[in-house]
Amino acid sequence: MSKKGFNTTNLHLDRKDNPEHGVLHKAIHPSVAYGYEDARELAEVFQGKRPGYNYGRQLNPTVTALQNKISAMEDGLASAAFATGMGAISSTILSLLKQGDHIVSSAYLFGNTNSFFGTIQNLGIEVSFVDATDVENVAAAIKDNTRLVFVETIANPVTQIADLLPIGQLCREKGVIYCVDNTMTSPHLFTPKSVGASLVVNSLTKYIGGHGNALGGAITDTGLFDWEQFPNISDSYKGQDPSLWGITQIKKKGLRDMGASLGPEAAHHLAVGSETLSLRMEKACRNAKAITEFCDKHSKVKNVYYPGLSSHPQHKRAAELFRGFGALFSIDLIDELDCFDFLNKLDSVVSSSNLGDTRTLAIPVAHTIYYEMGAERRASMGIADSMIRFSAGIEDVEDLLADFEKALG
Ligand SMILES: *Cc1c(COP(=O)(O)O)cnc(C)c1O
Repeated sequence: MSKKGFNTTNLHLDRKDNPEHGVLHKAIHPSVAYGYEDARELAEVFQGKRPGYNYGRQLNPTVTALQNKISAMEDGLASAAFATGMGAISSTILSLLKQGDHIVSSAYLFGNTNSFFGTIQNLGIEVSFVDATDVENVAAAIKDNTRLVFVETIANPVTQIADLLPIGQLCREKGVIYCVDNTMTSPHLFTPKSVGASLVVNSLTKYIGGHGNALGGAITDTGLFDWEQFPNISDSYKGQDPSLWGITQIKKKGLRDMGASLGPEAAHHLAVGSETLSLRMEKACRNAKAITEFCDKHSKVKNVYYPGLSSHPQHKRAAELFRGFGALFSIDLIDELDCFDFLNKLDSVVSSSNLGDTRTLAIPVAHTIYYEMGAERRASMGIADSMIRFSAGIEDVEDLLADFEKALG
């Protein structure tokens, strides 16, 4: 792989991958099926004896090109793309773990991942939720049957930052898969391989695609985990380089059998979006910083949650690990203000559930994305009823600040 920088590599990857007609973007290949002149070749592709495409649920050239981009961005060995971020998370967990296995997960978790971890407990996979901002809590929860530790880089919506580096060392000592959801930081701000992650999750829907116009997810194997000592790899996938056992099982069991496959049109949108990841992320981080500094001083805002503020409990950790503090922040208004009234007064900020868009989006979390979770779990995650989460976009900062000033006035 090229030793060039993050952006240069990403921008020129398609062109260097044997393109038709010298195209600069990988073409959108809609074909579901692939024909072979020699039927023996088709058989060999099925048996994994030669590379090739057989059916669109498992493999598509446009999706493969995107997977290569994600691998390059994460400095990983190989990636598998899925229809959504949740498709990537659920397919990966269900293809690698079995009944009786145990997961230690951060308690500060994306709501739908939290819900999925509830579902797998009904299937006999045990999950312990711990405060992962301190490695000691993760260490105390690890048992003989622990197979995987799951954390997010910056958690949603309170922006807690997991004790990423020591948890990596702990997982290495214990021989446990370390799965890091990098969605909130994106590979522009952070590569989880640098803290020893085995597997990296990215919701491509968010910052990587970046425009709110396509869903997608990816799992990247960093190459750091020793799959030879992992007990759940099927014998069928062991006839090759052991570093590929994990991603092969994720692709076969997760993608082929469960079928949350990414379509080629979405893959194209996401690949084009990824070309400006760094530019967008830097602008969105600057906007988030300016707005949080404004809110932090404002008398009508009770609390501001943003890793870029020196008062944030993990501010130092974020400064050491990340290239920037992210574009996600939350605020609690003072008790006298109604969060819905405030949101309705904003003009350049859209009330919407997505994040990582070019537009600034806001959502009252307790009433929406964290509603189903219930009051008790919300309280344990530090989510107040008045909390509003923002995903800073790339608008002109003066307009955003004027909007906040007006809505708080
Ligand atoms: C959005 C999100 C996901 C799920 O991604 P989808 O593409 O919406 O399925 C997973 N993890 C985090 C941290 C997210 O923000």
